[in-house]
Amino acid sequence: MSKLLIDGKRVPSNDGKSSKIYNPANTSEVVAEVCVGSIEDARRAVDSAYAALSKWSEVTPRARSLVLYKASELLGNSEAEIANTLTREQGKPYPESLNEVRLSASVLRYYAGLAPTISGRRVELTDPTEFGYVLKQPVGVTVAITPWNSPVVLMVVKIAPALAGGNTMVVKPASSTPLADLMVCDLISNAGLPPGSLNVVTGQGGVVGEDLISNPKVSKVAFTGETETGKRVMSIASRGVKRVSLELGGSDPMIVFEDADMERAIDGALVSRFRNCGQVCMSVKRLYVHEDRFESFIQRISERIRKIKVGNGLESSTRMGPLHSKVQKEKIEEQVSDAIDKGARILYGGKEPGDFGLASGYYFLPTLATNVDVASKLVKEEVFGPVLPIFKFSTFDEAISLANDTQFGLGASVWTRDLDKATKAANRIFAGTIWVNSFHEPQIDLPFGGLKESGLGKEMGFEGLENYLETKAVVVNPLGKKRPWLD
Ligand code: NDP
Repeated sequence: MSKLLIDGKRVPSNDGKSSKIYNPANTSEVVAEVCVGSIEDARRAVDSAYAALSKWSEVTPRARSLVLYKASELLGNSEAEIANTLTREQGKPYPESLNEVRLSASVLRYYAGLAPTISGRRVELTDPTEFGYVLKQPVGVTVAITPWNSPVVLMVVKIAPALAGGNTMVVKPASSTPLADLMVCDLISNAGLPPGSLNVVTGQGGVVGEDLISNPKVSKVAFTGETETGKRVMSIASRGVKRVSLELGGSDPMIVFEDADMERAIDGALVSRFRNCGQVCMSVKRLYVHEDRFESFIQRISERIRKIKVGNGLESSTRMGPLHSKVQKEKIEEQVSDAIDKGARILYGGKEPGDFGLASGYYFLPTLATNVDVASKLVKEEVFGPVLPIFKFSTFDEAISLANDTQFGLGASVWTRDLDKATKAANRIFAGTIWVNSFHEPQIDLPFGGLKESGLGKEMGFEGLENYLETKAVVVNPLGKKRPWLD
């Protein structure tokens, strides 16, 4: 039984409840049983984080840095075991899980490196007998609420800057993927943190999650998940005027101009759309190809997509695993059938693989669609599965306008050999990250976060650390000079 992590110890849930975690590749396989936390557990975890705050925030940034380096090393030593668990609970192919664990270890190292750079500044004031300074301090007790699609790295991008900044944290992982997260937090917690600095409470978002957000001892909530849940999180947090950062849904466009390197663009589309079975916030969800290259592009990408081997993520030949859950599969099936009803042509996929060996999991073929009506769900909603709708455009302005025609603004990519065109497009597309001739993937050193309904605030980069620092001003009157009106 996988237990909660509170005050540095693995403990059962207060009311003894538990649930089973099933393998999406073989839904009859129980990967493990996990304790389901209650509101009392959530409050105990916050109390523990609150008590630990005075100890951890007084550890010097340099000493915090050493703890984070150690945590990264411990993660590296257990990467195979964590990645195996991640594949079994989430469904993604093992090499993708391994990458995720390695990226998480790099994130810990990155913020270990930034911790000693935290500093305020001295400021000269109008009255030369006084001076001021700016203090950068921890925000306090923070809460991380994370989704199931990339549970480890999306948790670590919150833990690492929070701890680097001297904050303590309570994590609420997604109910269907708590196992790898608990393993990772155990390791980080054992890297030299005072007990209670990092806690994990599993349990339902609507119960445990909401209680954590409304707890008056919590100062900041970092959330990754669906846009609608993010709005709810923001509204609860607003009652306590708490800091919130939100990493939400996306519908990233990819624009392939007539002068692009087509093979590289196809590589980009395939990796960016089909890794993690399309369940990535920043995947390419709408592909726009210039009319002069449209037919040849379609022909070539159709040849390539057939070669994507669908299967259990623990088999070495697998390139794409199953969808994560029944809910996900039903949603994708509904979005595809809505597009077909509105006239879409499915060039490949659009259904489960016929392979009998895959009947026990939530498998769906990688799918290409054209003739997709812009009013269909494949365009209007976030598509969190392996379906790529491809559209034609004729002018630069038309491509930009199609790309921007969405309530989301997470990422976008442009593919062209013309740097002038690329920079103009990057300026005009409303998205938090624009990739030029490059895969949609995060870069640790750059801030990542969406515009419009894709989110608020940034993770990664130096900006990711600033999210976890409070700014205070201090005015010093060293000579104790009196103000004239007091005479
Ligand atoms: P959800 O919004 O359903 O859940 C995310 C987390 O929030 C889970 O831990 C969930 O708990 C919890 N939760 C649910 N309801 C509440 C509530 N009322 N109050 C507090 N917490 C709650 O998202 P998914 O897990 O389905 O994740 C997929 C979504 O995440 C996609 O939309 C994707 O685009 C987005 N995402 C965004 C990223 C970004 O960086 N912008 C990165 C990755 C994903 P429980 O599991 O118990 O329901």
